Amino acid sequence: MCRHLGWLGAPRSVAALMLDPPQGLLVQSYAPRRQKHGLVNADGWGAGFFDDGVARRWRSDKPLWGEASFASVAPALRSGCVVAAVRSATVGMPIEPSACAPFTDGRWLLSHNGVVDRAVLPVTADAESTVDSAVLAALIFDRGLDALGETVAEVGERDPNARLNILAANGSRMLATTWGDTLSILRLPDGVVLASEPYDDDPQWHDVPDRHLVHVHDSHVELTPLKGPA
Ligand code: GLN
Repeated sequence: MCRHLGWLGAPRSVAALMLDPPQGLLVQSYAPRRQKHGLVNADGWGAGFFDDGVARRWRSDKPLWGEASFASVAPALRSGCVVAAVRSATVGMPIEPSACAPFTDGRWLLSHNGVVDRAVLPVTADAESTVDSAVLAALIFDRGLDALGETVAEVGERDPNARLNILAANGSRMLATTWGDTLSILRLPDGVVLASEPYDDDPQWHDVPDRHLVHVHDSHVELTPLKGPA
């Protein structure tokens, strides 16, 4: 499983979110603490953020720890809404920048921790890559993010082995699901962090239970149980 992170709040630098925390995505790329599937996240990474409402991304298929140019520029990239990830490719999936989250439809940035059988997903021309996560992202964009919980539950019903932790944001809202993997939440005075695992040992981190939808907006956080397969 990959590891992802989202921030919604006051502007922060991408470096402060991804690179600086003692157990942030940079450290999670080689020494994740809670990863249940896969050992390291060395198959690429992505940093996405909203800049005056425009979704911008920097993605790579190289390990995050070797990206000196990104490390140099990331402190200057500031945003109130960030979606970032490091990737551990599922066996059989392509290793290429376009297979790395976050994916986008121009309005949302979206990451997927997990795996899904592409045979249960509709064939679409809109996916950015043939990787399962990109095909799933295309379906979620097509159905609309307001239906995220329903879409995840439906895909989970069609593929009982799927793991479907999604994280998505559009500049003013952040949504996430737990379906088979970990997710933690940190509420700070100036914003909310959602992350596959805590990036430090702050006691304010809380684990989100499995099969839940998280909705963050206007500094409110709502958790709703997802309907599992009957
Ligand atoms: N299945 C996706 C991929 O191959 C995500 C993998 C993951 O969560 N580790 O990239």
